[in-house]
Amino acid sequence: MTDWQGKHVTVAGLGVSGVPAAKVLHGLGAVVTVVNDGDDERARAQAAELEALGVTVRLGDGATLPEGTELIVTAPGWKPDKPLFTAARKAGVPVWGDVELAWRLRGPDAAPWLAVTGTNGKTTTVQMLASILKAAGLRTAAVGNIGVSLLDAVLGDEQYDVLAVELSSYQLHWAPSLRAHSAAVLNLAPDHLDWHGSMEAYAADKGRVYEGNRVACVYNVADKLTEDLVREADVEEGCRAIGFTLGTPGPSQLGVVDGILVDRAFVENRQKNAQELAEVSDVDPPAPHNIANALAAAALARAFGVPAAAVRDGLRAFTPDAHRIAHVADVDGVAYVDDSKATNTHAAEASLAAYESIVWIAGGLAKGATFDELVARSAKRLRGAVLIGADRALIREALARHAPEVPVVDLDRTDTGAMLQAVQEARRLAVAGDTVLLAPACASMDMFTNYNKRGDAFAQAVRELEA
Ligand code: ADP
Repeated sequence: MTDWQGKHVTVAGLGVSGVPAAKVLHGLGAVVTVVNDGDDERARAQAAELEALGVTVRLGDGATLPEGTELIVTAPGWKPDKPLFTAARKAGVPVWGDVELAWRLRGPDAAPWLAVTGTNGKTTTVQMLASILKAAGLRTAAVGNIGVSLLDAVLGDEQYDVLAVELSSYQLHWAPSLRAHSAAVLNLAPDHLDWHGSMEAYAADKGRVYEGNRVACVYNVADKLTEDLVREADVEEGCRAIGFTLGTPGPSQLGVVDGILVDRAFVENRQKNAQELAEVSDVDPPAPHNIANALAAAALARAFGVPAAAVRDGLRAFTPDAHRIAHVADVDGVAYVDDSKATNTHAAEASLAAYESIVWIAGGLAKGATFDELVARSAKRLRGAVLIGADRALIREALARHAPEVPVVDLDRTDTGAMLQAVQEARRLAVAGDTVLLAPACASMDMFTNYNKRGDAFAQAVRELEA
């Protein structure tokens, strides 16, 4: 579909992807109708902006397929079983996400894509990757699910040599023809299963990131599911499977030897069988899961031909985003760490694995998760636990089953002031040398607007302890 003039395109959903998509399509000459479930103040403001351009907007009606629709461009979060898509299937109307639209409009011509997906670590890894690519002197940006629209990146004035692209499972679901230069699936744990319908469907959507890769499919040696996805992918001839591991790497792998990140897949000097890239201490924070992220980023950069020195320089220049294992302060010999972004059990397990003796602040909205595995695997590291939020009983019960000796403070309140009390209780449980770790394993919306606000409340409470 290259001639957009007069095409009837329906954009499903306003918001971060819908508004730019509607503008771009309108600019190309398409006849655009936006349908949106909600009819709130924000939606009305966005609708007014689009209507001023000549776009039709239907608020409060995201279910009906507008007459004459030839293509739907959907917001990634819209579930495939929505009535709009059922109607589209019946009418033979294709459905693309905004990533698919970006790809079709100019994806391959704008710059090669190095794509990253996975249950956890995506944002961190694409930021590390962009930092490494920049250190190599390449014009690049971290884009996609990280909050920077791919449409803006590929259609904007800025010229790129390569893009570091974060893709969610939703975005991948709606991007059937995307073909990356190289891609990584960092890990796979049950998440968003209500949307995808099953773990198999979730994994299959993640696995699309490997389809048609030209140079490398990067997988996690410790996570067999990611390797299975590589095996199932249909890739270009010559595309290699490259593993990353926290252990000693085999051939075609990157790994760690004596505190050094080493590459046995892309060796510059043919006399050697491994290339030193960086030291573990160059990675901030040097927690195991984050070393894994660094190795995945390094693998993608190396697949793009980046020299070893740029990997080291890029990792040194990288600073993690807020609320991701952020050290807030030391008070009386106890470290206070904010990992509010650990919104699921897989993420919380990774951050708990990074410390030896922990007072754990957890709880919030469980999103259907169970906590037995997380608690059983982390029990030996726990000095104590302070539980907050709506679904804290689920964690309390898992602690009673797997760590009955660990003291638990159960805060029966969900107001935002509960965080201050939680931090005070944690201080009482902690002894010098411990870490008080906010790694909630839950979403935040029962108590806070988002995980940022939850982390800010934690940091504020810690500052009050210091005062
Ligand atoms: P995403 O973009 O996938 O949500 P982030 O990089 O924002 O990932 O990290 C989110 C949280 O996931 C972090 O705060 C940390 O708790 C956890 N995490 C980061 N990397 C990993 C990893 N490789 N494996 C498991 N958990 C991780």
